[in-house]
Amino acid sequence: MSYDSNNIFAKILRGEIPSHKVYEDDNTLAFMDVMPQADGHTLVIPKAPSRNLLDADPAALGALMASVQKVAHAVRKAFDAEGILIQQFNEPAAGQTVFHLHFHVLPRSTGVPLRAHSGKMADHALLADHAARVRAALEA
Ligand code: AMP
Repeated sequence: MSYDSNNIFAKILRGEIPSHKVYEDDNTLAFMDVMPQADGHTLVIPKAPSRNLLDADPAALGALMASVQKVAHAVRKAFDAEGILIQQFNEPAAGQTVFHLHFHVLPRSTGVPLRAHSGKMADHALLADHAARVRAALEA
């Protein structure tokens, strides 16, 4: 399995399609998932191309996990979550649908069920509001 640079996250990285960005540094980008399984569902990706964790350069993972942790703190604060679920899928058999490495950051609270994976497209105004909340938490 090889990396296909036409995947949707590569297009987001190149600025060819829009996204609701919350964080960016030299190595990573974070933006709202358009089909959120929970309010505040955020994706964190490396800028370096890799299909998933299995073919990623180990040297890139430190910066990526640092961004995952940073975004997890901000999402927890912005959505007043009791916990944070991190998910990461490798290959279709494991549930992967977009083939550029990404980590899901999902706020969780007791009694609030997750919505379906790749389920319903969220309203863009709502995603913009959620992104602003995460950005504000990152800046606080
Ligand atoms: P995975 O199954 O781990 O590959 O998940 C891919 C995720 O990307 C799903 O949660 C989708 O809702 C999400 N997604 C698909 N297209 C976009 C997009 N254009 N912008 C943001 N998230 C997206």
